[in-house]
Amino acid sequence: MNMPARLLIHGASGRMGQALLRLGAAEADLRLVAAVNGDGQAAGGHLPWFAAADIEQVPDFDIAIDFSRPEGLLPLLALCRRRQARLVSGTTGLDAGQREALTAASKHVAVLWAANFSLGVAVLGALVERAAAALSAWDVDIVELHHAGKRDAPSGTALRLAAAVAGGGGRPAVQHSLRAGDAVGEHCVQFSGAGERLELIHRATDRDVFARGALFASRWLAAQPAGLYRLEDALGAALRGD
Ligand code: NAD
Repeated sequence: MNMPARLLIHGASGRMGQALLRLGAAEADLRLVAAVNGDGQAAGGHLPWFAAADIEQVPDFDIAIDFSRPEGLLPLLALCRRRQARLVSGTTGLDAGQREALTAASKHVAVLWAANFSLGVAVLGALVERAAAALSAWDVDIVELHHAGKRDAPSGTALRLAAAVAGGGGRPAVQHSLRAGDAVGEHCVQFSGAGERLELIHRATDRDVFARGALFASRWLAAQPAGLYRLEDALGAALRGD
């Protein structure tokens, strides 16, 4: 029998981190070994907690799952390289330098970053690209709604959907970001033609979908060589409907 993969949860006291600690603890083939957050203040789970400033002291791990802040990414990437550990990251709002650092690290270890870890959004991206190809003269608007605490706008998912529109040959998408209440995440891609409108909508109602997706991606990544991967690579068969 294979040993369980050892997980480090980075950003563990946040909304996503808490979901990962709860769901990850129930998986027999995964083992949570440490939690990192901004200040190192323990926030549940039967495992040691570390402040971001003390990240070098974490015990050995095989995969880091990161849902934190962009400024936490570079130290985590450096640690993953030194420990030869894989990285699954869903942190959004990364700047060009941070995205380049992901690419550079992926020459040495397996890295999977996704703006959105839900299967429904992965399918939405594929549908949007097809719609953009068929409706290339139509106006395109992307409307996204997230909880008031979300820092980046447009969301990482909205940017990926705009890239899908561009990939399909559609007109440049206009972004509209709403920040209100406790909304987990909604994305509507609206194609407007003369006398008709097509709307493709995804609504997440529970952030457990992202945590489950990240755990699924971790399991898949555990068997991959160094490289930069997308969630679509891990979902391959599910996306094709096999
Ligand atoms: P949150 O504000 O609730 O939690 C942030 C966590 O990061 C906290 O534990 C905090 O202590 C920690 N942190 C802050 N600075 C840090 C640092 N320098 N190093 C390490 N940890 C640090 O945020 P959240 O709602 O859990 O979201 C976290 C990130 O994940 C955001 O970028 C959000 O947009 C993204 N997100 C992505 C997906 C997806 O599917 N890709 C889904 C939901 C959220």
